[in-house]
Amino acid sequence: MSEVITGCIHIHTTFSDGNKSFEEVAHIADDVGLDFIMVSDHMTLQPLQEGKEGYYGNTLAIIGYEIHDPNNKNHYLVFGLNNILNPRLPASEYVPQAAEKGAVGIIAHPDEIRNYIHKYPSYPWTEWGVGGFNGIEIWNHMSEWMERLRRFNKLKMFIFPRRSLQSPTKRILRKWDELNMKGKIAGVGSVDVHAFPYKLGPLRLVVFPYKVQFKSIRTHLIIERELSKDIKTAKGQILGAIRDCRVFISNYRWGDASRFNAEILTKDGVVQIGGEKTFEEGYRMQVKIPKDSQAAIIRNGKVYARFNGKKAEIPISAPGLYRVEVKRSGKGWIYTNHFKII
Ligand SMILES: [Zn+2]
Ligand SMILES: [Zn+2]
Repeated sequence: MSEVITGCIHIHTTFSDGNKSFEEVAHIADDVGLDFIMVSDHMTLQPLQEGKEGYYGNTLAIIGYEIHDPNNKNHYLVFGLNNILNPRLPASEYVPQAAEKGAVGIIAHPDEIRNYIHKYPSYPWTEWGVGGFNGIEIWNHMSEWMERLRRFNKLKMFIFPRRSLQSPTKRILRKWDELNMKGKIAGVGSVDVHAFPYKLGPLRLVVFPYKVQFKSIRTHLIIERELSKDIKTAKGQILGAIRDCRVFISNYRWGDASRFNAEILTKDGVVQIGGEKTFEEGYRMQVKIPKDSQAAIIRNGKVYARFNGKKAEIPISAPGLYRVEVKRSGKGWIYTNHFKII
């Protein structure tokens, strides 16, 4: 029996520019009920080397790091390495090197645009020609917030950071669909949480406290058996699910999506999210959503079918690259990875 585990990806602590210690962050994640977090401080694996990977209550904290090139460009999350790579490498070298060492690599905030705060410039990915990455962040809370930030909405955006979240950008979804026409690239959600303090006139605010962030964009993984209590085995389960694209993402603000399910029913079993199967007549996509929603099945980047409600079974009448998008009141709630029907 497969099951779904829920976590947050791309978290900074005081090992780099986050504002809470590793232990504090892990305990906050446990308090809000996450099954796992993936911590990625900038250019350091010190928390891993200090033995901090492991369970904190019921939350497993696994540790990778965020690489950037010598110009602080092309941010890349890597999980599964024991030592950092040479910090002077360009992306064209750290992406393949991490892959050779068996790590899972995720392109961070790939299409970021920042309109307002010039002190914090944007860091989009520019090295699309380099192969060997396993995933990309299709929804990064921090990037979307920064892209929407303007002088007129600044106060509201700072006080209600989750209200600004709408959905992944069309640009990145298109890019992600294209990448999957050629290979198998996971789409993950990320919080990119630093919780940095910011001075706004007389106010001192912490932008995105960890607790708020952990209740926003979550990544759900489909694993075979329940998450192991053995740290190494559990880490393998998490990284394996990302590698295989057994992933969907959600914005917790619109509801707990962990009981969401989408699969393609065939006469000899089901195709799960991330799965692949040769086309035959009679396939049906079954979608079960925990709350009434507006859903769309996307095929090869275009809307294939739409339905409203909590449940539907839609015939799959041709091969293609399928995925499901779910909205509530027009706001993005759940996005699955692809099913490949070839
Ligand atoms: Zn970054
Ligand atoms: Zn980051």
